[in-house]
Amino acid sequence: MNTKQQIEELRKELRQHNHNYYVLDNPTISDYEFDIKLKELQVLEAQHPEFHDPTSPTLRVGGAVTKNFETIVHEHRMYSLDNSYSKEDLLDWEKRIQRILGDVEVEFTCELKYDGASISLTYEDGQLVKAVTRGDGFQGDEATTNVQTIKSVPLKLQGDYPPKFDIRGEIILTLDGFAKMNEERIAAGEDPYMNPRNTASGSLKLQDSALVAQRPLDCLLYSIVGNNTGITSQFQMLEKAREWGFKVPTIAKLCKSTDEVMQFVEHWDNHRHDLPYETDGVVIKVNKIQYQEELGYTAKAPRWAMAYKFKAEQVSTVLHEITYQVGRTGAITPVANLKPVLLAGTTVKRASLHNADQIAKLDIREGDTVFVEKGGEIIPKIIAVDLSKRPDDSTPTEYISECPECGTPLQRTEGDAKHYCINYYGCPPQITGRIQHFISRKAMDIEGLGGETVELLFKEGLIEDYADLYTLTKEQVLPLERMAEKSAENLVNGIAASVKIPFERVLFALGIRFVGETVAKKLAKAYKNIDALMSASSEELVAVDEIGERIAFSVVEFFQNEKNQKIITRLKEYGLQFELSAEKLLNQTEKLKGQTFVVSGVFEKVSRNELKKLIEDNGGRVGSSISSKTNYLVAGANMGPSKKTKAEGLGVPIISEDDFLAMV
Ligand code: AMP
Ligand code: ZN
Repeated sequence: MNTKQQIEELRKELRQHNHNYYVLDNPTISDYEFDIKLKELQVLEAQHPEFHDPTSPTLRVGGAVTKNFETIVHEHRMYSLDNSYSKEDLLDWEKRIQRILGDVEVEFTCELKYDGASISLTYEDGQLVKAVTRGDGFQGDEATTNVQTIKSVPLKLQGDYPPKFDIRGEIILTLDGFAKMNEERIAAGEDPYMNPRNTASGSLKLQDSALVAQRPLDCLLYSIVGNNTGITSQFQMLEKAREWGFKVPTIAKLCKSTDEVMQFVEHWDNHRHDLPYETDGVVIKVNKIQYQEELGYTAKAPRWAMAYKFKAEQVSTVLHEITYQVGRTGAITPVANLKPVLLAGTTVKRASLHNADQIAKLDIREGDTVFVEKGGEIIPKIIAVDLSKRPDDSTPTEYISECPECGTPLQRTEGDAKHYCINYYGCPPQITGRIQHFISRKAMDIEGLGGETVELLFKEGLIEDYADLYTLTKEQVLPLERMAEKSAENLVNGIAASVKIPFERVLFALGIRFVGETVAKKLAKAYKNIDALMSASSEELVAVDEIGERIAFSVVEFFQNEKNQKIITRLKEYGLQFELSAEKLLNQTEKLKGQTFVVSGVFEKVSRNELKKLIEDNGGRVGSSISSKTNYLVAGANMGPSKKTKAEGLGVPIISEDDFLAMV
């Protein structure tokens, strides 16, 4: 055997052992023997770099360091899931599905909802080429070098895999692995990590992949996306993934009815603590891929899948003190400071009390014993007061009447749940909050600048609004606490680089009340540039699809304000993007304005998603089911028969792919 063969033989053997150990949970050699073979391979590879292989098991050890995690746009968007909490919710969902699919029999695949960090893996010719975190669903961070070190992620596949596909899963820490990590940390005098989920997702952001390699991370897969995979059902998808070498829990079950689904849900709700990892529910998916395609997606989630959330866990603890936070819009949020208590794997110290009404409704007081619950959200909430434990000297909570930060009397407008500090330009947390929002990931995504530094810069009098960021110099920031040559440089460079951020995100970054990410996109698309938007009246704004009065008034008010106008003028001077890029403008028309289309079946010249994008790019709307408001049904091959009948019944014109393409 020559060296090349020897290397290849070792790789093959080690791959198999990895699979046996980490995927099948069934090792056939000792750890010691494994390590000897791995060392042997490492030595040979070091001597013979000419035989390099990007799928070698030695990559599992890590070592590569990532300085900057590159942002990657997902080829297929990573959606979130709608939630349900009861059998009734599921029955409602089933009805909605039947309305779209017509009278067909629908089966469901039930899987556990793994609680970790979602990841998308790309395989080409059976090799892992890319791993990307979910990010905002549209784009995430590349994490390939780190993911390569996770032993249950196959670097090379086996069997009849398609030439190119993405597979989605969840990176998790098992409870055992997590406990062991914490034991080691405590032994080393470090603070233990709070919970497995955050630790798993934090691991993907470590720069040194050798550190990631040491963590007992695992990757559980649940979905294959790509064209021509030959897969026809969700259940088959899981089996295929398993065959190709992925770790896919066998707990998944194919169910024929909602009753069967509920049995699965109830069983795992009772037994979830027997599992080696955390789960917060069950994911139920329409089994047939053809039906999944037919059902499609809402703006947020697939219509063909539903998460069933297990009931949250509760504990009781003592409320020490109620404090008040001021947000970037001036909104006051009361916060309950609790005696620390362990809840669903995390130590809880604080909980939101939302607003004055909530406090009054619960009649919650300092010194009370309260019940705390943790749902899916990160911040736990207080459900009730244990009145039997109320101290004798307890007095009702009096809500504050002045801003705790600047002393301005608080205001509450009718219809608002919250009190507001209206000292927009003088209240420190509002000023820094706006700047922090401006630099945040989904807004200007300024690297090298964090929330604490913003506070510091403000305290030192270096910035008063977000436009000031663009005049900062390295010399100015260098004297700040914890700043060094390099970090000062990164900060200034990060700010300078942000002038390339596209218009819709700049618009979101401005922090106009009620203008979130989606609304910002809508406005950018409708007005194309800031000048047009700034001169729009509220009547004009309301005419834009999905823009209501509340948003319209807020936009007009924002742009009427002279301070804001000045800031925008300055931002323009600094070179920020205040119009849609030429690329975005290209291919956009109003040809289909005011028209609603329903798309059904399979198409030849464009994919279903491309078709939907064409509709939207040309100003039309994509509807999910046929109603009297539908203008056209675009019909492809194998269109659902119920849709056809319905369209005919309502007199909705049915057009072909070619008819549609001719329209645009
Ligand atoms: P959410 O973020 O609560 O909307 O839930 C969506 C997330 O659930 C997805 O991004 C996945 O990362 C995660 N998830 C966990 N287990 C599954 C599963 N079996 N099928 C689909 N998604 C899952
Ligand atoms: Zn204030």
